[in-house]
Amino acid sequence: MTEKQHLTGFSKSELAEFVTGIGEPIYRGNQIFKAIHGRRLKDFSDITDLPKSFRDKLNDSAVATALVVESRYVSEDGTRRYLMKTDDGYPVETVFIPTENRDTICFSSQSGCPLKCDFCLTAKLGLLRNLSVGEIIEQVIIALNDVYGEAANTPHGTNLVAMGAGEPFLNFENLIAAIEIMSEEDGLFIVPNRITVSTVGIVPRIKEFAELENRPHLAISLSAPNDDLRDRLMPVNKKWNLDELMNAAKFFQESLRRGERFTFEYVLLGGVNDSSENARQLADLLVKYGLTRVKINLIPHNSAEGLDYEPPAPERVKDFKAILESRGVSAYVRTPRGRDIFAACGQLAAKSEPNLVGTP
Ligand code: SAH
Repeated sequence: MTEKQHLTGFSKSELAEFVTGIGEPIYRGNQIFKAIHGRRLKDFSDITDLPKSFRDKLNDSAVATALVVESRYVSEDGTRRYLMKTDDGYPVETVFIPTENRDTICFSSQSGCPLKCDFCLTAKLGLLRNLSVGEIIEQVIIALNDVYGEAANTPHGTNLVAMGAGEPFLNFENLIAAIEIMSEEDGLFIVPNRITVSTVGIVPRIKEFAELENRPHLAISLSAPNDDLRDRLMPVNKKWNLDELMNAAKFFQESLRRGERFTFEYVLLGGVNDSSENARQLADLLVKYGLTRVKINLIPHNSAEGLDYEPPAPERVKDFKAILESRGVSAYVRTPRGRDIFAACGQLAAKSEPNLVGTP
């Protein structure tokens, strides 16, 4: 038996090649594209505007789904977490975060993660494998279909953040291919301007990303203002230290469009990196490298069993933010979403039980 092709990850030209390969006219490729991405259908039998013989042929050689939802958790704040499995049995997690005006879907780029950030639960899984283009896109389709049903339109617009499990810049090609497909107008139509990719700081990829013609927004997870601390919290710093990272950030800054800024994420860990001195060091670092078009997202640590860190005291968060602002740096505190269902930042670790630690 030859393996069936997962068409969700095929671009329009790849679909054209696929249909001609099975002896069909080229325009059938676009019909399939619209059905999978525009109408979010996952069963070829439901594409009733295609001849039955063609649908049968498709079912013989291809699928439009490769992820199975194992569980779905709904937080008291409306956030939903999906725990899925790939067809070779690896966990994939996606989080749907409703806000008043717009939905945000947080998708994963890898199953597990190879980076060993000390404060993150996903790190405990290690890297299981990179997700395919189709597996990246299907997460978004699954979340939208769960919330709105299989339909062409969603009542709200959708933002995407590549902030789920894994390091997007270590699965760069698949990530970029997925983003290109998701931005097609007759597909999901989620354009790069609505997408933010978050990285721990894979320096060569930051530069490559800066040079993409139509690229999404960038967030860099910093979480420490000096090398000693960052080496301890994020071992990736031993490969690319702060000087290299800040130079890459500077390079990226040059590529910003008019009015655009980029983000540094800073996880606040109680008593570890949340002092007034740390805030001043952070502001100094930005000045040293001439980083003016940035905003800082402060993320109070989300606790979970197995993580040896505490959330910051509320007055530390206020003080940290105030110090940055007094130095002219925009700083925002990210409101945790879905902590009770292990859906918040740093909590994606394929958990199938409720969170008993640190739930408000
Ligand atoms: N690997 C990429 C993509 C994941 S984004 C990256 O790290 O940028 C997830 C964000 O959550 C990162 O900014 C990370 O620093 C942050 N994070 C990880 N563990 C956390 C925790 N326990 N509490 C709060 N934020 C956490």
